[in-house]
Amino acid sequence: MTQAATAIPVPVRIPIRQILPWAVLIGLLALIALYFVSTEQGATAMFANSYIHEFLHDGRHLLAFPCH
Ligand SMILES: [Zn+2]
Repeated sequence: MTQAATAIPVPVRIPIRQILPWAVLIGLLALIALYFVSTEQGATAMFANSYIHEFLHDGRHLLAFPCH
């Protein structure tokens, strides 16, 4: 007994127009975080003291950015 139960696949709709602003925001936040982890040091530092560098120092070594 064979029943021809052929399921027609329904394509998943991804609403790009709704996702795009959040993707841009998260991308910017990720770039800012990457800046603070990777290049907030020495001549490229935005802040004079080294609190941010010391706070992110372990992450810097974990991600193999050159440090000292
Ligand atoms: Zn270091």
